[in-house]
Amino acid sequence: MEAYKKWDRRGFLGGLGLMAGSVFSGPKLWGRPQTGAAASRGLSRNVYEDLGVTTIINGQGTMTMLGGSLIPPEVEAAMDAASRHFVSIPELEVAAGKRIAEMLKLPEGYSALVTSGAAGAIQCGISGVLTGDDPTLIQRLPDLTGMKSEVIIQKSHRYPFDHQIRATGVKLVEVETREDVRKAVGPQTALMFFTNYLNGAGRIKVDEWVKLSMEHHLPCFNDAAADTPPVSHLWDYAKMGYDLVAFSGGKAIRGPQCAGLLLGQKDLISYALLNNSPYEDTLGRGQKVGKEEIVGMVKALELYLNDDHEALTQEWWRRLDTISRQVTRIPGVSTAYYIPAIANHVPTMEINWDPRRVSLSPDQAFQLLKDSKPSILLEKTRIGLAMNSFMLQPGEDKIIAQRLTEILRAHRT
Ligand SMILES: *Cc1c(COP(=O)(O)O)cnc(C)c1O
Repeated sequence: MEAYKKWDRRGFLGGLGLMAGSVFSGPKLWGRPQTGAAASRGLSRNVYEDLGVTTIINGQGTMTMLGGSLIPPEVEAAMDAASRHFVSIPELEVAAGKRIAEMLKLPEGYSALVTSGAAGAIQCGISGVLTGDDPTLIQRLPDLTGMKSEVIIQKSHRYPFDHQIRATGVKLVEVETREDVRKAVGPQTALMFFTNYLNGAGRIKVDEWVKLSMEHHLPCFNDAAADTPPVSHLWDYAKMGYDLVAFSGGKAIRGPQCAGLLLGQKDLISYALLNNSPYEDTLGRGQKVGKEEIVGMVKALELYLNDDHEALTQEWWRRLDTISRQVTRIPGVSTAYYIPAIANHVPTMEINWDPRRVSLSPDQAFQLLKDSKPSILLEKTRIGLAMNSFMLQPGEDKIIAQRLTEILRAHRT
């Protein structure tokens, strides 16, 4: 999937209160003075402008490359409060994990861990399966002497984040059929791994995969990083029997950008923590999780669970309608809608035009929007543009509508 190639981990600014404002906190415009916590600390100007970096109107969705998502003010406040005290990080991790498992009503025997992101959750989750709580093995990773060394994955489920699996030292064993799985399982098999958004691409589907793992008495991992909404996905896979499930904290959940969730069996969760920061001489020491992220993640999840998801979806449609109504007044311009089945499962709009009536390639349209001030990022398609609206701030739908209309009009034949 092309989009993943563009993504990476982002620096963290939330603890400084720099991300004030949200979908729910009234209009927030670019280059305007900071309000609230930021202003009270003397941050009077736009912090990005200060660095000469242009802010972006994000019609692409929860892209790590663009900063993921924007935290709600309540999360900012929780992180701010967390930044004012020292605590034992392992104690905080365990307490937060317990609270998260309760909030999500995970099955008996499940807990959770706040990680640096879904990618971090994959790496420490698998590390834990390999090492258990043995300090010698934890220190030895990624040298797998004395440990299991293979992870089974469907060939069609290989993706950029399997780097985090391979980072533990294991070899990926690719399979396509149930029969392949049977042949692949051996004394060296540590785990079966599933890439949730590729459910459609593999022959073995999400529910069958976990059943197979049970037949073979192997732990099973599902990377569901970007797969909320719907919110029920947060517990669906644990209930299905997955032993470990990863989510991004800083995508649709709108938690801290450098946070994620590992949900799973209590023992595996405790082994994952032992392989992670703050513990030293661990593979995961480089995936530090701060007290601010841990507290912010709990708060974000609480808000997300209480959101009116129906109303939010209506609002996302309304924004797309605003843009559609305006651009389709131009002869030859049309819009169409769909909702991706999984990952960014939100209203999505294609904007297409008859090249005989508007002489502009998708590349040119994309670039002109990108070069606008503020910069507008939509997706390019083969014949036009596409966008979603769930990461837009109030008023940005109108700005997109206006700028896009200008650009398309200027190229009428
Ligand atoms: C975004 C994503 C990740 C990485 O998540 P982070 O929270 O940024 O670490 C991993 N897997 C999939 C499928 C993703 O979409």
